Amino acid sequence: MDFRDLGLGPEILKAVEEAGYSQPTPIQQQAIPVVLMGRDVLGCAQTGTGKTASFTLPMIEILAAGRAKARMPRSLILCPTRELAAQVADNFDKYGKHHRLTKALIIGGESMGDQMSLLDRGVDVLIATPGRLLDMFDRGRILLTDVKVLVIDEADRMLDMGFIPDVQRIVSLLPKIRQTLFFSATMGPEIRRLADDFLMNPKEITVSREATTATTVEQFLAIVDEIDKRETLRHIIRVENVKNAFVFCNRKRDVTVLYRSLAKHGFDVVQLHGDMAQPARMEALGKFKSGEARLMVCSDVAARGIDIQAVSHVFNFDVPIHAEDYVHRIGRTGRAGLTGRAFTIATPQDGKHVAAIEQLIGTPIPRMDVEGLPALELEMEPRRRRGRAKEERPGRRARQEAEPRAEAVREAPRAEAPHAEAPVREERRAEAPAREGRRGEQGGRGGEGRRRRGRVDELGIGEMMHADDVVGFGDHVPDFIQRAISRPQPRSARDDDQEE
Ligand code: AMP
Repeated sequence: MDFRDLGLGPEILKAVEEAGYSQPTPIQQQAIPVVLMGRDVLGCAQTGTGKTASFTLPMIEILAAGRAKARMPRSLILCPTRELAAQVADNFDKYGKHHRLTKALIIGGESMGDQMSLLDRGVDVLIATPGRLLDMFDRGRILLTDVKVLVIDEADRMLDMGFIPDVQRIVSLLPKIRQTLFFSATMGPEIRRLADDFLMNPKEITVSREATTATTVEQFLAIVDEIDKRETLRHIIRVENVKNAFVFCNRKRDVTVLYRSLAKHGFDVVQLHGDMAQPARMEALGKFKSGEARLMVCSDVAARGIDIQAVSHVFNFDVPIHAEDYVHRIGRTGRAGLTGRAFTIATPQDGKHVAAIEQLIGTPIPRMDVEGLPALELEMEPRRRRGRAKEERPGRRARQEAEPRAEAVREAPRAEAPHAEAPVREERRAEAPAREGRRGEQGGRGGEGRRRRGRVDELGIGEMMHADDVVGFGDHVPDFIQRAISRPQPRSARDDDQEE
């Protein structure tokens, strides 16, 4: 099928051609004619399927006729994160370049004054995150009674982030007669209920998971002790031919810790998470996109929807708690027909989460050995109390004494070039003496932080799993912390990545 068969006008066809697209993607083929007819759409599709163009292209066509009035946008696109909103705005610029449509990006973390003056001039398209939009509304800076087309993008992520009450309030401020396009990567019962509330007789379009997720991504799972995760990550990065990579952590605070650690070890790295100020986020994104930084350590929410075509690797520094996040994460690589490699670093205690992922993707993730580390198995039952678990598994220090550590990761089956084997081996050899030297000198893992740890070890406090300049309890976790860790946390408390 050709873009010309979808009912789009010549200006848009020209913009699409200039964007280099030869064929519409499946979601574009199905959604564009339906949107042009004025029907509601319930789209089940992930980022990477071309879903943004599936609603922006027909919206531009629809909005081309008519003019915006001051403070009364004619269409509204709600996005869960600032990055996603900024990306949708970029799409409007790209596809709408032969039209004279105006847009405003209303997101937190940026000057309200500039956004207000844009609104005052009148905009055709308002692209917003829910919190900032309501803020503007409550200040009387915006009227939503002229919105004819509403898009809710990544509804499942809105739900995860607790934005649904805001979205419901925004929808209640819109005219009842409007066209609504609702997209979600997953369609659980809650999302369906919302869709029923917001949509009228929608055309349901599902782009199948098989078609959208990464058949072009090779996946690997390394099972190591918590304490070995950072070193494992560093080695995989070194031995793989990483052009650029996302490194995912489950929590914002771990993003910063890992970012600092990687920077300290000489990697060119940036971080992205929801607590960063908007200019810092944009700067990090810019550096990563331009190739100035090879690695981006990030949280799920911050990285959601970031569209960078050629990412060679994805690293899951933590196994995602929600299986569907795994699919989103590894979908960052292997896009647009390119191949990619995704490495997940699990601890034995991640057994249940790995099992859920494997059930969702319908296949086991191939295991890889990590040289110098024992082959660990995933545990399906939560660990019993400390004393018992320690008897069953020798501690790290005992293991190190028993089997001296060789500092390389082996046996992730190599892809053909560019992941060629010979240079990897070379690098391993080159690195080995330096590390051996450090270990000999300090009886442990190298660096200034380790020297301090050596002192701590002398005192019998043990190993740590924190930033190199932070002292922790290692295996000697006091009882009160133990209790706090084992208490299950509600989802909202755990997903502390809200972006507004
Ligand atoms: P999305 O799913 O909207 O995040 O889009 C993912 C990527 O696919 C973006 O970089 C788009 O520029 C690109 N894209 C969208 N439509 C097409 C198409 N028909 N052909 C090739 N690439 C496309």
